[in-house]
Amino acid sequence: MLVFVLNAGSSSLKYQLINAKTSELKASGLVERIGIDGILKHEVGENKKLTFELPIPTHKEAIELVLRILTNDETKVINSISEIEAIGHRVVHGGEYFKKSVLIDNEVIDKIEELIPLAPLHNPAHVIGIKICRELMPNVPNVATFDTAFHQTMPEENFLYAVPYGDYTEHHLRKYGFHGTSHYYVSNEANKLLNKKNSKVIVCHLGNGSSVCAVKDGKSIATSMGLTPLEGLIMGTRCGDIDAGVIPYLMEKKGLDSHQIINYLNKKSGILGVSGISSDLREVIKASNDGDKRSKIAIEMLCGRIKKYLCSYAGLMQGVDAICFTAGIGENSDLIREKVCEGLDFMGIEIDIDKNKVRTPGIREIHKETSKTKIFVIPTNEELVIAKDTYNLVK
Ligand code: ADP
Repeated sequence: MLVFVLNAGSSSLKYQLINAKTSELKASGLVERIGIDGILKHEVGENKKLTFELPIPTHKEAIELVLRILTNDETKVINSISEIEAIGHRVVHGGEYFKKSVLIDNEVIDKIEELIPLAPLHNPAHVIGIKICRELMPNVPNVATFDTAFHQTMPEENFLYAVPYGDYTEHHLRKYGFHGTSHYYVSNEANKLLNKKNSKVIVCHLGNGSSVCAVKDGKSIATSMGLTPLEGLIMGTRCGDIDAGVIPYLMEKKGLDSHQIINYLNKKSGILGVSGISSDLREVIKASNDGDKRSKIAIEMLCGRIKKYLCSYAGLMQGVDAICFTAGIGENSDLIREKVCEGLDFMGIEIDIDKNKVRTPGIREIHKETSKTKIFVIPTNEELVIAKDTYNLVK
């Protein structure tokens, strides 16, 4: 079954065409700057990379363009759009409504819209993507896969904030967690390797946005992101955990309104804010190697925060069988992996420095033979989860 996987953002659109039965990736791409000017980067296989620069005023034109490219003579991977049998949409926020992927009907769309206050940047774009697909391919079923769904198994004590309980029941104030599709995929791959009945896995998804998840017996029991993706780890431009008292203090000192303070914490903080160099960790590592003090501190802070979560989740689960590193930083930075695991031998976590440095595609084991806890690098594949869920719901 050919599944078109779509991740619609406010001015961008990521897509993949996947044979969900065989997991074969037929084509993938990214449309950026929708409504500004427009650029489409399309990939077929390992070698064929094409870039198109042309005006793309709306998401509708973007999806029409992608469908044309998938079927056009020179670039085609399918003969006709009718070969697409289902569409899988990534949706950031499913609130407490969605505990797993669902077939989309009007009621599902209403609920995704209802959750817009909890994901004001993402859910509106997803709804646009869904509505356009229904319009352009009216006979093709659509499925939604939610970033929050995997974390719906968290126990109340791990998702509540210690504020008056009525604000949970009345205003839905709680931790939801994000990156659920990635945490599910990676922990599931780790469980296949561990091959044991009761497993304790910690996944570190470290990208521009980052989160840690404690996965016990295949279920998320705690995660670092919260009501919004601002909580938890130090990220590219987000501060992560912070004293709530900082907010009124800074608002007063700098004369910021609520919109400005959220922008400050989301866009100007994190690695970028501390280093003053970049949100791209590669540049910050380079600056640190060149002697830049603030870059060095930013890296120490980033790793310290991850270590703090690792240790607390190991405590929460009373042990840890495997630690998994994934996403841009987790998959590519041996420095960060080494620093995070450094000094944790006392807990049975022993990284093999040499294995950690070897770069090969696919899953890698980077622990010492003597390590009680296994340490894996597992490339994430959220699109494959979406394609498989879509296949299973549609078939
Ligand atoms: P997103 O959250 O946008 O999907 P990614 O998972 O692609 O992000 O991760 C992007 C981050 O990965 C950037 O901070 C980038 O600097 C970092 N990264 C990629 N390769 C390396 C590397 N070799 N060393 C350190 N950081 C890296």
